[in-house]
Amino acid sequence: MISLIGFPCDFNSSYMRGAATAPPLIRDALRCSSGNLWTESGIDLEGKWHDCGDVEIDTPASFLSTIERAVTEELDRGNLPISLGGDHSITFPIAKAFSAKYSQIEILHFDAHPDLYEDFEGNLYSHASPFARIMESRLASRLVQVGIRTMNGHQREQARLFSVEVHEAKDWKDTTTLRFASPVYISFDMDVLDPAFAPGVSHPEPGGLSTRQIISIIQNFEAPAIVGADIVEFNPLRDPSGITATTAAKIFKEIAARMLKADRLQQTEMGHEQKL
Ligand code: MN
Ligand code: MN
Repeated sequence: MISLIGFPCDFNSSYMRGAATAPPLIRDALRCSSGNLWTESGIDLEGKWHDCGDVEIDTPASFLSTIERAVTEELDRGNLPISLGGDHSITFPIAKAFSAKYSQIEILHFDAHPDLYEDFEGNLYSHASPFARIMESRLASRLVQVGIRTMNGHQREQARLFSVEVHEAKDWKDTTTLRFASPVYISFDMDVLDPAFAPGVSHPEPGGLSTRQIISIIQNFEAPAIVGADIVEFNPLRDPSGITATTAAKIFKEIAARMLKADRLQQTEMGHEQKL
């Protein structure tokens, strides 16, 4: 069972606040009667996820432990957590929870930005730094980034240091199939999309991938299982038409489809047929 958890926090954002108000709007978009809950692969998501609601994060000091605890609880129940941000700083404590559960985990990270700063303006937990924390703490055996288009010298050095596999937007070929050998965690920053498709982000970076290209990558990468995900950095203050909320909901659905499909295969292999 998928569990949806909202983490409404944006105090680690370096430029603009607003992402904290995203989770309820993504839920509204999921339930909006302009669409339905079927995925493109033919799975009806109705009744397929449990909504844990939003987790209140009182102070910046407690955000690491609060988020890690909330995700650990869902993992202990045997669920597949999809977290809604909030800014990208939530991914470090989430990754801590996953690394305690899985001995090997590979991260597929969609973003315009590598988020590999050693720190940003002195903040080690900035939304510009989660993957530096994750890799130095060895929480993932592999980090694959897609859609990057803001590399600077420091972050290129960090990517080398942590052996990050970076697929920059400028080099992306639609014929590429990403392959993973271990369970995969997806971290999805909405600004990986071109701002023409998803304007509601704090750091719009032109030259991104289209919604169609991104969905194709999600649908076609090869992995033994997809065990969790986050969708972060949607900023409703920059989304007057609501299209970014709708797009975040669409990404949720297509990621959920992949998670359930792999889950069903695993259950079938174990001899427990699970009805989708
Ligand atoms: Mn990011
Ligand atoms: Mn970003």
